Amino acid sequence: MKTLVISDLHANQAALDAVLSHARRKGATRVICMGDFVGYGAQPNQVLDKVRRLRGRKWFIRGNHDRVASGADDGSGFNQAARHAAIWTREHLSKENLHFLRSLTLGPVTTDDGILLCHGSPFDEDEYVFSEYDAHNILRKFPQKLVLFGHTHLPSFFVQDARGGISGWLVRQASTFKLEKGKRYLINPGSVGQPRDRNPMAAYAIIDHERQAVHFLRVEYDIRSTQQSILRAGLPRVLADRLAAGA
Ligand code: ZN
Repeated sequence: MKTLVISDLHANQAALDAVLSHARRKGATRVICMGDFVGYGAQPNQVLDKVRRLRGRKWFIRGNHDRVASGADDGSGFNQAARHAAIWTREHLSKENLHFLRSLTLGPVTTDDGILLCHGSPFDEDEYVFSEYDAHNILRKFPQKLVLFGHTHLPSFFVQDARGGISGWLVRQASTFKLEKGKRYLINPGSVGQPRDRNPMAAYAIIDHERQAVHFLRVEYDIRSTQQSILRAGLPRVLADRLAAGA
């Protein structure tokens, strides 16, 4: 069995399409998404129509942008560009997609095979996990062998060995890591729709449960068309520009 792991889609249709067609060849039968389906980008309905129709077992949780775009929060904690995009999203969502966003579950959520899912951290949807110290605080509190998170838009791999020591890496290229017995892991697949690790390619991961491995993957997509859609919608230019820089 293989699981497609995605996060932080941010209403970027071309990036999502590129990831899904790349992943289709890898034979994943389940999908996990750690939230931020919308926000920043100008194609929220296209992205939500697509994810709602994905086949196979699905686990979706809410991200902070989904919360604001759905109207559950006024976005006062956001910077101006993020807030502008969230309010624009709320005004443009179809009825079905607004309902979908409103019914997303707040993490943490555990899958039927014991993987813990959260948007920011299991403590707080808005909390960023950057460091080994952050990873340590989570792994000492939560017993799962594998925790999947998003929110930083940085593909990241943290491992805790049997003695409790933690090492972490930023994974900027396609790479495979083994999931070993006796060790525990905290993994962020990176962002599909707005990568921030200075690699503009869309990021995602596949977990191969038989081989006990996680593949971090990167895919090129048509950045130009996404930028044009953002500008056409009248959203802040910075949201288009940053896609080309992957920052
Ligand atoms: Zn995000």
